[in-house]
Amino acid sequence: MNTNKRICIIYTGGTIGMVPSEHGYVPKAGVFEPLLRSINDIHRPEFPDWELVEFSPLLDSSNIAVGDWNKIGRVIDQHYDEFDGFVVLHGTDTMAYTASALSFMLENLNEPVVFTGSQIPLCMLRSDGLDNIVNAILIAASGRVHEVCLYFGGRLLRGNRSTKMSADLLEAFDSPNAPHLAETGIDIQYHDTVIRPKGVGKLHLQEFIDVPIGVLKVFPGIQFDLFESIMTEKLKGVVFEAFGAGNIPSRPGSNLLPLVERAYRSGTVIVVCSQCQQGSVSLGTYETSSGLARADAVSGGDMTIEAAVTKLYYLFSCGYDKETIREKMEQNLCGERS
Ligand code: ASP
Repeated sequence: MNTNKRICIIYTGGTIGMVPSEHGYVPKAGVFEPLLRSINDIHRPEFPDWELVEFSPLLDSSNIAVGDWNKIGRVIDQHYDEFDGFVVLHGTDTMAYTASALSFMLENLNEPVVFTGSQIPLCMLRSDGLDNIVNAILIAASGRVHEVCLYFGGRLLRGNRSTKMSADLLEAFDSPNAPHLAETGIDIQYHDTVIRPKGVGKLHLQEFIDVPIGVLKVFPGIQFDLFESIMTEKLKGVVFEAFGAGNIPSRPGSNLLPLVERAYRSGTVIVVCSQCQQGSVSLGTYETSSGLARADAVSGGDMTIEAAVTKLYYLFSCGYDKETIREKMEQNLCGERS
């Protein structure tokens, strides 16, 4: 029995549709749809109806930029009423960034947008693409989720909590600070209590503008003065990847704090996230993070770097002033932080 659910598959590129070339795997226009049609499961009567929108050019997701996030958002916005859900096929390298970006961009979303891809191309032996795409389509047609999520290697994750954990395992993604939305085994087990409620009102697409954002990973011996000019003049927002619960080198001579203070005065929003995959930033727990709080940096809490970066893009694109952006960075807008 066909559910009569209609799913729009947006194919942006990534390993799932790549073919070998003399310079390594590349996406190639026109090869994916015939490959997809060669999968038996897709032709079962109980399988949802689907249509494929293929992007041009197809991208290795290392090349994805802000304009491509907008392009995906526009396709969803334009076809929203025609489909019951969307599956976005995307490279794994930056999938968590794009899923995070779309979770902010698609305000009032009440349909599922499921990102997936694969570690092994669909045209190769042992591809994980088959399981990923079939389950992603079934999840998108299930009526059980209505948020931006990411299905990969048996796990359904909230998009803005997900992060790529492994360059080679087939269970490549996880959401270390948030429970899985579902797992696939013989059945698909949904965890209804952690799935977000449907958005209320009409879908609104908040396109992003290409604001200058930076990420600075702190390491022992970092010479902060080398980063002075970008931090105080050019960047609108900086995400610090600090140690542990938000700590930074603070011995005399490590002059980050005056830079942070100056950056704040010149209008830059500084967000502190952790280099640890799991756990939360807590500014002021240690003396080595208390200066950041005094210098008006904001805590990224347990947000992923991907969520913090894309949230900054979103808030600047909404046109908020610096103080509002600082406040909203510390609030939970769409499940991105506890
Ligand atoms: N480089 C590829 C991409 O992100 C990797 C993948 O899809 O697994 O597009």
